[in-house]
Amino acid sequence: MKHAFTVDLEDWYQGVPIAQAKRATAERRLHIGTERLLTLLQSNNAKATFFALGSIAREHPRLLRAISDAGHDIGSHGLSHDLLYEMTPERFREETRSSVKDLAHCIGRDVRSYRAAYFSITRRSLWALDILAAEGIKFDSSIFPVKNWRYGIPDYSRRPIVVTTASGPILEFPLSTRRVLGRNIPVTGGAYFRIYPWLLTRANIHAAEREGLPVVFYLHPWELDPDHPVVLFKAKAMATHYVNLRSTERKLARLLAEFRFTTLGEVLTDAFPGLGS
Ligand SMILES: [Zn+2]
Repeated sequence: MKHAFTVDLEDWYQGVPIAQAKRATAERRLHIGTERLLTLLQSNNAKATFFALGSIAREHPRLLRAISDAGHDIGSHGLSHDLLYEMTPERFREETRSSVKDLAHCIGRDVRSYRAAYFSITRRSLWALDILAAEGIKFDSSIFPVKNWRYGIPDYSRRPIVVTTASGPILEFPLSTRRVLGRNIPVTGGAYFRIYPWLLTRANIHAAEREGLPVVFYLHPWELDPDHPVVLFKAKAMATHYVNLRSTERKLARLLAEFRFTTLGEVLTDAFPGLGS
């Protein structure tokens, strides 16, 4: 079974709650983790979807084109990395349009995949799917069917589904969960991948395969760059940002050696033939 490998393409300081002024002067290290990741993907014959912030097109155009030219899919991770459920629909539409346009212009291909910052499509921001469909997005992976302090729709579909919007269908791949004692727990990705022992991640993916469910894995380049600067911010967010960074590369090599991965769009198109193209 082929699973989806996804990357939220942002630098280490872009997804953490620090002041704008600090971000402006933060050390740029995006290429370090991204190059390690591209090498690992290539040596394991895996393809991925990279959800890039719109600013990457301006700040790192050569890196973005290199990812696209290596056969990976470029999707959008929005513009500001702010929470969707705190935006107005108008602002969300503008940010989506701007990031999709800049990314598409940079790589010379359409951008059809999307992931919200902090998985922030929740009950309060489900309207975002209509706007995404209207802006040309076919594949979304922004809804986490868990209960988390920052995100989640605990009773959302655990399987990929077709969401019908006023602007047409959009294929949603909810972040992967496993049923344990009547609750959904995250299968793998990001901090969960770093916190869980490898054997738990492996068992979770095998459990999904037994259910006939492909998994959507996710990672950030800075998770392969354990020497990125340590800055202080909200304790709850810090705990998940810095934990077990040195374990990522070793676990990732095992993950890619054992399971097959491709882009989000390919897994969703296989699941719903005729709808993705
Ligand atoms: Zn992000």
